[in-house]
Amino acid sequence: MTDLAEVRAQVAAWLAEAWDPELSLREWRIRLADSGWACPTWPREWCGRGLPAAAASVVAEEFARAGAVGTPGGVGVRLAGPTILEHGSDELKQRFIRPTVTGEIGWCQLFSEPGAGSDIAGLTTTARPDGDAWVVTGQKVWNTSARHADFGMLLARTDWDVPKHRGITYFILPMRQPGVEARPLRQMNGHTSFNQVFLDQARIPPGNVVGAVGGGWPVALATLAHERRLAPVADPPAPAGQAPAGRALREAAEEWERAMAPYHWYPQRAGRPDLVIERAIAAGRDTDPLVRQEIVRLITLAWSARWTTQRAAAARAAGRPPGPEGSLAKLASSNIARAAARVHALIAGPSGMLAGADDPAGEGGRAEGGGVGMLSEILLSVPAVSIAGGTDQIQRTILAERILGLAREAALDRDEPFRQVHKNG
Ligand SMILES: Cc1cc2nc3c(=O)[nH]c(=O)nc-3n(C[C@H](O)[C@H](O)[C@H](O)COP(=O)(O)OP(=O)(O)OC[C@H]3O[C@@H](n4cnc5c(N)ncnc54)[C@H](O)[C@@H]3O)c2cc1C
Repeated sequence: MTDLAEVRAQVAAWLAEAWDPELSLREWRIRLADSGWACPTWPREWCGRGLPAAAASVVAEEFARAGAVGTPGGVGVRLAGPTILEHGSDELKQRFIRPTVTGEIGWCQLFSEPGAGSDIAGLTTTARPDGDAWVVTGQKVWNTSARHADFGMLLARTDWDVPKHRGITYFILPMRQPGVEARPLRQMNGHTSFNQVFLDQARIPPGNVVGAVGGGWPVALATLAHERRLAPVADPPAPAGQAPAGRALREAAEEWERAMAPYHWYPQRAGRPDLVIERAIAAGRDTDPLVRQEIVRLITLAWSARWTTQRAAAARAAGRPPGPEGSLAKLASSNIARAAARVHALIAGPSGMLAGADDPAGEGGRAEGGGVGMLSEILLSVPAVSIAGGTDQIQRTILAERILGLAREAALDRDEPFRQVHKNG
């Protein structure tokens, strides 16, 4: 069993020697990748130290204590890296792991389609072989950060004559090419985090298949499992309100600003349960019996979810297999976000709809065009939690089938060749 105190001592000693805020961000990240402290749970040969999950939070705490820059935010280190490590060839690991960790390349996830979200296995974007390479045509949607990404984790159909789950291949798509067009979508909270991505004869070089041709489904499940477990948002390199001192910190702050722009509203998306008590006091509603009941109901929910997550982490650290706690976490986050939005609305009343300087809780996440209030941003953003990474209904189906052992959901299209499945359009 790993001695976490020893890990803490080792990373603190390394940071004391190696962290130099005057390095360029690139120089620092190279040092970080070489040290293995970049992604401590990853294998030693791929920028990690092969440590258990519990060590990651110890390492993160020491980085925060030293004020040192970590890995880039976004879905590269959180989704693409782990998926390639689990399912990619050594050649793919060689090409993509290190530049993802150093922030030289950025990623997006190209899974959802206009006719395939919850039923992602029903996707129709098609990749055809062209010599050793692939040519892909179709449409993706809701793709966060696609306009700025260098590479996309792409699911495409490569065989229409087998059942739907078996004809999908997982590709790494170079985004900067003429056959790829990402068009922004404006959301009701004023932000434009998402895109539609049109693929018209886009080219995928040989060797960019993760896993086997036609074997993309388990690879996609691996990405989704990481997505449900982890928040996509990294902490800013310097605490809010503090000017970053040192070249690496300044460059990291610029990188964070660029890469995290699509995620500015994510704290509000979680419902901001952390704000309810101060809001209730500031609005003079903390003596209202109904408001107090609802606040305690919310905080109880939030604390029990946190303890469940901590129990799951402790079980993992002790080497026990994953239990239902992980599957419950995503559903819990939807319930908490919705409950928090309800309490905020109860406290603020109609003034919660005010924007900009009139908003009782200040400004939100700086939507394009500005002026979105914190509370209205919470109310307009929480529905996203119960959709992103698999809707609440889909999470309940997963729990019913995999944890409770109930019968599988009825489906008429699971076993017949995908070409014969009735589809819209
Ligand atoms: C914040 C956010 C970020 C996202 N980022 C990305 C991204 O980067 N890349 C990407 O590819 N996608 C992304 N998505 C898309 C997301 O994965 C899909 O929106 C999601 O999978 C749901 O698909 P859908 O929108 O097509 O809804 P649908 O699948 O059409 O569902 C509509 C409704 O029907 C219900 N429903 C569907 N099937 C069933 C069933 N079998 N049983 C019971 N109820 C059912 C759903 O629960 C939902 O309420 C993002 C979405 C959000 C909100």
